[in-house]
Amino acid sequence: MTTKLDIVQIRQDFPILSQTVHGKPLVYFDNAATSQKPLQVINALTDYYTGYNSNVHRGVHFLADKATTAFEESREAARRFINAASLEEVVITKGTTEGINLVASSYGRKFIKEGDEIIISTLEHHANIVPWQMLCEQTGAKLRIIPINEQGELLMDEYEKMLNPRTKFVSVVYVSNALGTINPVKEMIKMARKVGALVLIDGAQAVSHLDTDVQDLDCDFFVFSAHKVYGTTGIGILYGKKEILESMPPFLGGGEMIKEVSFEKTTYNSLPYKFEAGTPNIADVVALKYAIGYVEKLGKANIAQHEHELLTYATEKMQEIPKLTIIGTAKEKVGVISFVAEGVHHFDLGMMLDANGIAVRTGTHCTMPLMSRFGISGTARASFAVYNTKEEVDIFVRELAKAIQMMS
Ligand code: PLP
Repeated sequence: MTTKLDIVQIRQDFPILSQTVHGKPLVYFDNAATSQKPLQVINALTDYYTGYNSNVHRGVHFLADKATTAFEESREAARRFINAASLEEVVITKGTTEGINLVASSYGRKFIKEGDEIIISTLEHHANIVPWQMLCEQTGAKLRIIPINEQGELLMDEYEKMLNPRTKFVSVVYVSNALGTINPVKEMIKMARKVGALVLIDGAQAVSHLDTDVQDLDCDFFVFSAHKVYGTTGIGILYGKKEILESMPPFLGGGEMIKEVSFEKTTYNSLPYKFEAGTPNIADVVALKYAIGYVEKLGKANIAQHEHELLTYATEKMQEIPKLTIIGTAKEKVGVISFVAEGVHHFDLGMMLDANGIAVRTGTHCTMPLMSRFGISGTARASFAVYNTKEEVDIFVRELAKAIQMMS
């Protein structure tokens, strides 16, 4: 089955893609780091700054009202995007990293105690490791790590064995940014429920590829960043179940998150504003509605199908390249391919590809423990988005094969 999407037309929405780099047409395969932005999103930023730049929520004038309406429309778009039950459950953050830190800090410091256990996995991004380590240092709780197999899949029987009455929190990645593995998070949440643990899902790499329904998943928290789903950098969403968010203390203190302030006592604002101290990144929040609208217009299923075709096509072609090994061969994967080549450093591979206009990521992908698990210092990683094409895969595979042959 071939894609229903008109990729040539879609590429017109992303002017950045039609440039040359080092004299070669740009092939942008670094989408897991950040996706490119369509004109609809870029124009939303310009419209905001040229038409109604103003602070939100506190003003009575025309521009403030317009900015506030646009800001809150994005919250509604995000609610719909992940199917949260209410707007009170949709907190605007700086991104995935801040969302996880908010939960670890606010929920963690109130409810996690010495001897409690927090489970994460070997596949986690540093953003879903370090905040929990910091919490464990502060509270005396213990961090437990779900191991993986050679394909980069979680060992579910080990996870099951780890769960016990001391398990208070499970925080796992939905889709691995380094390997592309899709974790069975719905099943993992059900398993955690049996011991009464809460679950946070790191959805940073999931929302651009998979349909996300937080009510169907029944997760307690879900986090993602706008910039990985055709939105801009510096903003993200934290979803939390209302009664749990209600029970948590504020994360940052300041304007907006308060109801009444006196030197004797301060009372806090209602949800979600209790967790939104200070002036937010208004323009970028406003643009989020357009990023979500863009994905909804194309259809997640169509995007996923197109990216899956690219993944299958590229994987088959790459397997034919001598001395190349793909790291991460899970049965359930999104369009992310990490690879190493015998005798060639991943950094040099990245540089050679760049010289041919091809952008891939090299290094540890903020997953150092995962790299250690495979006994490697890093990988090169190609990751696909809706605007990528088989022709680009052909160029990539050809230049990659040449680079490996030359350097190994
Ligand atoms: N989690 C995963 C799985 C990611 O891929 C990333 C970014 O690469 C993050 C967390 C951190 O996201 P951000 O830097 O946007 O906060």
